[in-house]
Amino acid sequence: MTVRIALIGGTGVYDPAVLSDLREEHVTTPYGDVGLKVGRLEGREVAFMARHGQGHSVPPHLVNYRANIMALKQLGVRSILATAAVGSLNLDMEPGDFVFCDQFLDFTKSRAQTFFEGGPGGVVHVDMTEPYCPELRALLGKVAVALKAAVHPIGTYAVTEGPRFESPAEIRMLRQLGADLAGMTGVPEVVLAREAEICYATVCMVTNFAAGISPHRLTHEEVLKAMQMNAAKICSLIAGTVLLIDPERKCLCHEAVRGPVAGPDNNGGRSAVVGGRAGARNLGGAVPEEER
Ligand SMILES: [Zn+2]
Repeated sequence: MTVRIALIGGTGVYDPAVLSDLREEHVTTPYGDVGLKVGRLEGREVAFMARHGQGHSVPPHLVNYRANIMALKQLGVRSILATAAVGSLNLDMEPGDFVFCDQFLDFTKSRAQTFFEGGPGGVVHVDMTEPYCPELRALLGKVAVALKAAVHPIGTYAVTEGPRFESPAEIRMLRQLGADLAGMTGVPEVVLAREAEICYATVCMVTNFAAGISPHRLTHEEVLKAMQMNAAKICSLIAGTVLLIDPERKCLCHEAVRGPVAGPDNNGGRSAVVGGRAGARNLGGAVPEEER
């Protein structure tokens, strides 16, 4: 069975507790090798990847985001649910709340941001009007309401380079720019998923108020503790949402680069593909033909 749904576990989510019959998979991609697990959830095959590796051994700026997303693409994944532990800049978004972010602000500095680096791969300017899949976000919202979880259906996630936390002055700046949340891993993951034409949504779990808002200094232990306290809730939310996802569903995200596959020869106004379709074909070339 082809794996159509994947979970990317962020800080505090290292164990695919919701899956059974787990097996290890090793995927070789042009960007590096990736180890992940594949298990089952009520008949669905679901991949699980710990973003920071087992035991949180990889810091946010050194995560091989391209290899991770490409590995999922090669498996045939069409929908990704990711988790992220985030600090809140918005007093209405309190520790323990879920935010299904709909926008991001990118303040990362040193990361490979694209699969398309010119040459034979072409150049692609992918559209970011809706970076996070609205359909997956709607499903998450449905499950969160059923769970009676404190949830915010929209939010702007500012992604900083890390691994240090932000300064209070930076947090003041981010607030003025419209950010609700601060974290270190949302970009380029969301961008690469879009370039790979995979639906992607992030469950942001507020673990603390950000620097200058929190009454005390921030520690990673505090973040882990908050994630542990909410682990059961996150598992229920993720499992409930996976069960609502039709593995073979189709979505506009699946046409983010190439445009409607069966439609007229344009990109639907969603992305600027420079140099013809070379880029899109090249990325797709990493995927077995029957999976496309
Ligand atoms: Zn989508």
